Amino acid sequence: MSHYNMYLPSYSIGSDCYSEIPHVTRHYGRTAVVIGGKTAMAKAHDALLKGIEHSQVSIIDFVWFGGDSTYENGRMLMENESVKKADMIFAVGGGRACDTAKYVANELDKPLFCFPTVASNCASVTAICVIYNSDGSFREYYYPKLASHTFINSDIIADSPYQLLWAGIGDALSKECEAVFSSKDADLSHTPLMGVQLSHVCTSPLLRYSASALEACRAKKSSYELEQVTLDIIISTGMVSNMTTHTPDYYYNSSLAHCVYYGATVTKNGHKHLHGEIVSLGVLCLLTYEKKYQERDAIMKFNASMGFPICFDDVEIEESEFDAMGQKVLISTEWAYRPKDVTLAGFIDAMKEQNRCGRAYRDSLKASRP
Ligand SMILES: [Zn+2]
Repeated sequence: MSHYNMYLPSYSIGSDCYSEIPHVTRHYGRTAVVIGGKTAMAKAHDALLKGIEHSQVSIIDFVWFGGDSTYENGRMLMENESVKKADMIFAVGGGRACDTAKYVANELDKPLFCFPTVASNCASVTAICVIYNSDGSFREYYYPKLASHTFINSDIIADSPYQLLWAGIGDALSKECEAVFSSKDADLSHTPLMGVQLSHVCTSPLLRYSASALEACRAKKSSYELEQVTLDIIISTGMVSNMTTHTPDYYYNSSLAHCVYYGATVTKNGHKHLHGEIVSLGVLCLLTYEKKYQERDAIMKFNASMGFPICFDDVEIEESEFDAMGQKVLISTEWAYRPKDVTLAGFIDAMKEQNRCGRAYRDSLKASRP
């Protein structure tokens, strides 16, 4: 490698941050097409138009992204006349809408601006897209350029579905422990070294502010705590992702907690549970694997208080399914980049140990109730 590039996300957050659109986009073009989810576009519509009123920016069309981040939807969008014509692409919505728009913007080499409407993942600031097959199964990762800027309207986030924020918290909970664990044997060069250090700011705000943030979301009113959690889920984890992902050289962005999720996709009932929900249980399995029992117990207490799973009963997965889960894990990116000493038997043992420990904790909670 004779050189490499590092692009960092830039972003605005606040109730009226869309008013920054004309200034931030001024060097990129005059016309924009919105690509997004139907509900997301409906929610952001008025705020977007207000943000660009009396400016040189105009939105020429609002186009539905197609419902899933697939290459087929991406190609359909690339054929859309408004998409062809617009100077800029505005991605509006959740992870799949943003990922589809990222793919389209990258293929067409047009400037991209993201407008996340939920705080459930970091897709709006990352240089990775999760691409699915038309049947909904996972296809592959695609590596696009970064959005030029991300606008996080906290009023719109406050109006997002409670369950998605909740699951987003569960997913973000994995960032620190996975980045630290997966890089533990590596001699880190500058960028991943920064990324792993940055991961250390991901867990504590979640433990501190999540309960209030969820209350704010339930009340549909933005708050300081909700903004802190939103920044954690979108920005902190996204920056870690960008700095710790450089395949095929290295990948420290996720690890065994996500392996639990991939494994769960082949179980009978795993699909009934949200990604972040299962990942939050994966976090406990990873910390158990590492024998970091103090940290594990602190997060288990948090999980129990937030309604996140602490044992596999909570996500309707039986121990008899663990071997099949293991087979699925073996073909994941996370497994390919695991620390050298990680074995499948050790991983399954950790899931079993967490299952026992989580059940015992659940029993102790029941016993202590009057
Ligand atoms: Zn995840």
